[in-house]
Amino acid sequence: MNLVELVQVTSSEEEAEKFLRAKGILETFDRCPFCGHPKIGRIRRSFFKCYGYRKEWCIRKDSILEGLKVLFTKFILAVKLFILEVPVNKACKELELAYNTTYKMDNRIRQCIFKFVSLVMYGFKHERIDKSIKFSNGKVYINGIEGFWGYAKERLLKFHGVSREYFVYYLKALEFRYNFRANLDEMLYNMVGGMK
Ligand SMILES: [Zn+2]
Repeated sequence: MNLVELVQVTSSEEEAEKFLRAKGILETFDRCPFCGHPKIGRIRRSFFKCYGYRKEWCIRKDSILEGLKVLFTKFILAVKLFILEVPVNKACKELELAYNTTYKMDNRIRQCIFKFVSLVMYGFKHERIDKSIKFSNGKVYINGIEGFWGYAKERLLKFHGVSREYFVYYLKALEFRYNFRANLDEMLYNMVGGMK
């Protein structure tokens, strides 16, 4: 998704929600996730309600956005900034969000990638991944390991040091970035939608 397409998708919260739903990032419920009742309805803008046991749940339930107090439009923009390798201290200004909120989103994206790369690397079958991302053999390889280290070194330097605790998340994110550099945009949004 280039910037021109991004303007379309983020022109309103409704458009943004449509996009997130299409990517599977937001869950589309066809029945109550608690009791299975088929009659549900949208209430108060961001909640669903079950007409069986009258339970309510947030439309962000079971998604990367659960518990995040960020507009859908801003989340989509945050993913784009992540793709463009804009560091959190700059991204928060572009998004007009607090550093901590932006950092949290960045962190969730990295955790998502970590989970994805780990699952795929060890050959686990994951229905959602298979559905959203089509691999010919279900495995991800680093093509040309020497090329990758040069690529990773250059990027890790930009972070001015990463803590030991988070290093593996950064490394996995770079692995993902490297492997899918040809269509990173599409892969990242699909991957977030596929990983829950
Ligand atoms: Zn129910």
